[in-house]
Amino acid sequence: MAAQAQALSPADQTLVDGVLAGQRRALAKAITLIESTRSDHQQRAQQVLNALLPSTGRAIRVGISGVPGAGKSTFIEALGVWLIEQGKKLAVLAVDPSSSVSGGSILGDKTRMEQLCQREEAFIRPTPSSGSLGGVAEKSREAMLLCEAAGFDVIIIETVGVGQSETTVAGMVDIFCLLQLPNAGDDLQAIKKGIVEIADLVVINKADIDRQATAVTRAQWRNALHMLRPASPNWSPLVLTASALHKEGIPEFWEAIEKYRSALTPTGEFAAKRQHQALSWMWQLIDFGLRQHFRHHPRVQANLPALTQSVEQGHTTPATAAYALLDYLKH
Ligand code: GDP
Repeated sequence: MAAQAQALSPADQTLVDGVLAGQRRALAKAITLIESTRSDHQQRAQQVLNALLPSTGRAIRVGISGVPGAGKSTFIEALGVWLIEQGKKLAVLAVDPSSSVSGGSILGDKTRMEQLCQREEAFIRPTPSSGSLGGVAEKSREAMLLCEAAGFDVIIIETVGVGQSETTVAGMVDIFCLLQLPNAGDDLQAIKKGIVEIADLVVINKADIDRQATAVTRAQWRNALHMLRPASPNWSPLVLTASALHKEGIPEFWEAIEKYRSALTPTGEFAAKRQHQALSWMWQLIDFGLRQHFRHHPRVQANLPALTQSVEQGHTTPATAAYALLDYLKH
């Protein structure tokens, strides 16, 4: 797909101009285009994205994760309203693993973030409702670029704290935040799952319910984080407390985000992280494309069943079968 080489059609140029002018309708239309599975739409979407690429990258990209009920939408709404009061514009996107499996969505229902939905300075887009988690995430990454080109200063990518989705989101944002409940005494699920390694910031939400439990949970998190070697020598993950319902802890949260950015920008780590993410995204797409090409290759399709059976029965080694199948791609 030589997207860069081709000139934009007049309709797509209008779309690009509309996004650059910050028109919400154009932005929504461009996102719909990138979410389309039609190959002609995908080709156009890549052209539109390439045209907008020079205007991307100016926002801060924040990932927010937590189990259902942790208070993500309440927190994001309180944060969003506060950010708007500070003169910022924000976009909220979601990566929802449930939507990729069942077509249903934990995050996508429209009644969430009602106040924010009504604000001109906020753009909220539910998750694309189909595709593999990788596919859904890819669409969210591209939607993020479109929102940046449309002039949003803050992009929040929300995800549910289950399975692979947190790692996926951590791989597309500048700072990854975990929203936790003050369930002191519980063994820390996130630590077991290895999520703790990717958290740049932890927020114990619902502090209003039980201040004592919140303090204990905070101390547990601090200890757990202290035992790990931080990803950067210039940043040790912070543990904050908040009550999204009562709008407590919101300015402190944003202060921590700014602190993170100002700690890692002069050292070059902030930019390096984005470069690394962009390259890793490219390689994920290459891996995916090669896999598709392999699976659809006629000679692979013709020989795969017999070779699979032969490996299962122990007549052929996995390596011999793999090399034989890969060899078909050469012809
Ligand atoms: P999500 O599933 O993570 O998006 O969680 P929601 O934002 O939908 O919140 C789940 C429930 O927790 C709702 O009933 C909220 O009103 C409530 N909630 C969220 N934040 C707080 C908080 O700070 N304190 C209290 N007491 N309740 C909260």
